[in-house]
Amino acid sequence: KSGFIAIIGRPNVGKSTFMNKVIGQKIAIMSDKPQTTRNKIQGVLTEKDAQLVFIDTPGIHKPKHRLGDFMVKIAENTLNEVDAILFMINAKEGYGKGDQYILDRLQEVKRPVYLIINKIDLIHPDELFPLIEKYKDKHSFEEVIPISALEGNNVNHLLDVVKKKL
Ligand code: GDP
Ligand code: MG
Repeated sequence: KSGFIAIIGRPNVGKSTFMNKVIGQKIAIMSDKPQTTRNKIQGVLTEKDAQLVFIDTPGIHKPKHRLGDFMVKIAENTLNEVDAILFMINAKEGYGKGDQYILDRLQEVKRPVYLIINKIDLIHPDELFPLIEKYKDKHSFEEVIPISALEGNNVNHLLDVVKKKL
């Protein structure tokens, strides 16, 4: 099994930390070079049963300049070509404009989207359910997966879930 996985989310939600956790703990290739004009490969996770190629999709963030519209189009095209999308949010922050912007872009995308609630180490377990409720109906998520990228909680489970559906 193999697949391309896009990680999207507002700045500071923990995308890089997640990548470091996933790639850092296993033998893999890390690359910062742009592979195409569209996106860059952040890392390749090779396991005996699967290969996951993680890609960064910069244009999906709210554009800061005119070129932004073009970037957004490219990002949308990229997202339509991947096998799965990990939409990462910060458990400690409320639902915000930045999240809505990304979710609006995702409306056009017909690919499985996983809601990844990161930084669960910063919240009380009781805070998790209301958070899921807040996001649940904003998109038809394939699955909601709470993790702590920093501490590694549930990261392997996330990988298993994504792999299973490739
Ligand atoms: P990115 O902008 O989405 O790539 O976010 P980063 O990976 O750079 O993380 C932003 C900050 O959040 C850094 O200070 C990380 O150490 C911190 N961070 C990321 N994941 C977690 C987590 O699961 N728990 C906690 N407590 N902090 C985290
Ligand atoms: Mg980053």
